[in-house]
Amino acid sequence: MPRSPQSSTDAGAATGRLPYRIDRDYDRGLVWFRRDLRADDHAALHYALKHCRQVWCAFVFDREILDPLLERGLQQDRRVEFILRSLEPLRQTLTEAGGGLIVLHDTAREAIPSLAAELGIEVVFANHDYEPAANDRDAAVREALARDARHLLTFKDQCIFEADEILTGQGKPFSVFTPYKNAWLKAVQPFDLREYPVEPYAKALAPVPSAHRHALPALASLGFAPTNLADIAMPTGSDGARALLDDFMGRIGDYGHRRDFPAVRGPSYLSVHLRFGTISIRTLVRAAHEAVRDGGVASAGAAVWLSELIWRDFYFMVLHHHPRVAEGKCFHPEYDALQWVDADTTQEYLDAWCQGQTGYPLVDAAMLQINQSGYMHNRLRMVVASFLVKDLGVDWRAGEQYFADQLNDFEFSSNNGGWQWAASTGCDAQPYFRIFNPVTQSEKFDPKGQFIRKYLPVLAEMPDRYVHAPWTAPDEVLAAAGVRLGENYPRPIVQHSVARMETLERYGKVKGSKVREE
Ligand code: FAD
Repeated sequence: MPRSPQSSTDAGAATGRLPYRIDRDYDRGLVWFRRDLRADDHAALHYALKHCRQVWCAFVFDREILDPLLERGLQQDRRVEFILRSLEPLRQTLTEAGGGLIVLHDTAREAIPSLAAELGIEVVFANHDYEPAANDRDAAVREALARDARHLLTFKDQCIFEADEILTGQGKPFSVFTPYKNAWLKAVQPFDLREYPVEPYAKALAPVPSAHRHALPALASLGFAPTNLADIAMPTGSDGARALLDDFMGRIGDYGHRRDFPAVRGPSYLSVHLRFGTISIRTLVRAAHEAVRDGGVASAGAAVWLSELIWRDFYFMVLHHHPRVAEGKCFHPEYDALQWVDADTTQEYLDAWCQGQTGYPLVDAAMLQINQSGYMHNRLRMVVASFLVKDLGVDWRAGEQYFADQLNDFEFSSNNGGWQWAASTGCDAQPYFRIFNPVTQSEKFDPKGQFIRKYLPVLAEMPDRYVHAPWTAPDEVLAAAGVRLGENYPRPIVQHSVARMETLERYGKVKGSKVREE
């Protein structure tokens, strides 16, 4: 069974990247949805419908993923709710097209082979996943299916280029982003961005067998409790993704100069939709690419946004070629020797950081944003990550884990890449001697303190001049603003200038020392 491109029969041949060739047609196929919760521009669904007489569709709430969250007491998880809310419209679309969606709550390793046996499936179709645990699961499913003479076929769908598709002239993986991006931009062809249509082949969709015709499981039956997803009005499903994209395309031209200001609607907010595949990456890259090619007023902003989308492929590539980063190791092994603050201090600092109680308003407001919404603005991810590691001296892996638990858009590769970038331990990371000053960052990117005031109403009345560092305000200013340091807002947990020197010393022990401040 082909797992990778095989044929030279279509336009892709000209690019050197070839379309999948499926040697024969089948009677019964099953599409296993995972993080691709849409019914359009979907590689696995497209190929299944094209090559099978009858196609069933299934999604598994995988106990191997959900049960560990429950065991750790994480009953409220916006991602589980996001999936549930996105499955309903997916199911409706598939049903209206003549099929439907079988939804199971089980262990995917067992449920998929057993469903395939029950339906007499010859081939299961799915899109490639890139995380180590998902790869293990897919290998186990492939093996179980093979024992029964069935097959698992998987397709590239989640990224534009897979890990081995963009390599240096010497055929090696890139370790610096800019040359990777240049090679990516040089390589990309309409073939890579083409749509995988579903509708023209929809007649092969088979209705859900009566034994599986149930309502979607309730959140409680999965063991989870409701979150505030509805209150924060997060758009879900493919329609939600499309609405966000339409809104963003109206302001993409401003992306380059607005994206760093958390109080401004600068970025797309599409990351959770990319995570769960309610919109395809090709749709987004096509939109950006077209805006760049048009050369109009939007082109500069679109080029910056395209570059961010390429970072996503870059980090998938880093994870694939350097799997040790998934084992808690630094990309650059010399940093594994870093000595962090002791365990008690780590716990104290980590608690304050997680709860938004560090006394640095921008850091605290950012932590409240992630706690209250599951989203954090990119500039703030960089600021809080740098603060945890380089001001508090806490091991970056503790912050990485907190983000993994909290972020709606949690993506192992980008999260690990982002943390290792901030900690200077990663691939093409921030040099260790560049240390964000949390007050300067605040003055620069939230000059009027709008973002801070939104999440920290206790500071609402502080004058702009002091809102970034309330401890510098005269007593009468604090009193007039109703701020009582150490009572209703914390004093700074560490002094930045001191922490910075300690960090330089810490890193200097494993590297030569240089000093620069941002
Ligand atoms: P936009 O600015 O609209 O960007 C569009 C898309 O480009 C994003 O949705 C994302 O897919 C991609 N992108 C943007 N910036 C990056 C980047 N630096 N690295 C990789 N892809 C990028 N992104 C995640 O999707 N999941 C994570 O778990 C994650 N963890 C992060 C942790 C840290 C410490 C840092 C510094 C960054 C992390 N990022 C992560 C990257 C980035 O912060 C988010 O992708 C972005 O904030 C999502 O918001 P948006 O969709 O509005 O972004």
